[in-house]
Amino acid sequence: AKNLVEFRNLKTFFYTEEGVVKAVNDVSFSIREGETVCIVGESGCGKSVTALSLMRLIQSPPGKIEGGEIIFDGRDILKLSEAEMRRIRGNEIGMIFQEPMTSLNPVLTIGEQIMEPLMVHKLMTKKEAWNKAIELIKQVGIPRAEQIMTSYPHELSGGMRQRIMIAIALSCDPKLLIADEPTTALDVTIQAQILDLLRKIKQERNMALMLITHDLGIVAEIADYVVVMYAGKVIEEAPVRELFKNPKHPYTRGLLKAKPIIGQRQERLYTIPGQVPNPIGLGDYCYFSDRCEYAMDICRQKIPQLAADENGHKVACWLYEGEWKK
Ligand code: SF4
Ligand code: MG
Repeated sequence: AKNLVEFRNLKTFFYTEEGVVKAVNDVSFSIREGETVCIVGESGCGKSVTALSLMRLIQSPPGKIEGGEIIFDGRDILKLSEAEMRRIRGNEIGMIFQEPMTSLNPVLTIGEQIMEPLMVHKLMTKKEAWNKAIELIKQVGIPRAEQIMTSYPHELSGGMRQRIMIAIALSCDPKLLIADEPTTALDVTIQAQILDLLRKIKQERNMALMLITHDLGIVAEIADYVVVMYAGKVIEEAPVRELFKNPKHPYTRGLLKAKPIIGQRQERLYTIPGQVPNPIGLGDYCYFSDRCEYAMDICRQKIPQLAADENGHKVACWLYEGEWKK
């Protein structure tokens, strides 16, 4: 399949009183048509900012996309007008977030919220939009669709609200669905159901999925390809099986060491000693060096670049310098 999204040297910075936060710092990776790519890392590592940059929803100020390109379906997103961008958002790219309550409007019925984008983007009549909304509600696995249409968000459970958000995101047949921690606020059983639903609709529609998570259990279940971020940089990427079989970066290995406990909600997925570095004023060295048990002199003097081995498994770590394809 061909690339649907290409991030090329993306730089998204935030200008704060304390200094410049390089939230996304020279990030490159791709998502192919129909592929599920999971972006993994601790909070604050740049996952959400990467997704918001693609949607051009970075709040400015203090945020600013300072460099790079984001190619979506052949067009550089960063060069489009705001009107063109609005057409892409919700029409070609759908997005769902962690907390569906805050994304739904509390004073509008579920029906109104699903129908609105259909009437705006697909120019449907009210009757057509009503019928399509009923169909979408059924597709996301909610029974008694007619009754749901006239309900308000607070009348639904968290899991149901997330299903509705998915229905809204799907209403315009996007080529890409971005899901930012879509199950974090839900309990474990509901989490599994939402993941099943995402997998099913993704297959039915041959839609690409960019899923942001801190939970490697979710990655193992749903990803085709994994991108690991740390302090604004991609530090490893590989197909999911390869990554779990042969994790290379000491950070990724740390993530994988902590086995998720079935049935127990995890606020943090592991404990690697130490903390993510202060994102202000990072210099020319490996940002993981403070926490890395393998750190060498070179790690504190030069930043390792992401480079691929002969199988295309990419890692940014001086331990693998000898394996990099020149
Ligand atoms: Fe550790 Fe050095 Fe690799 Fe950084 S580059 S992860 S400090 S070994
Ligand atoms: Mg986030």
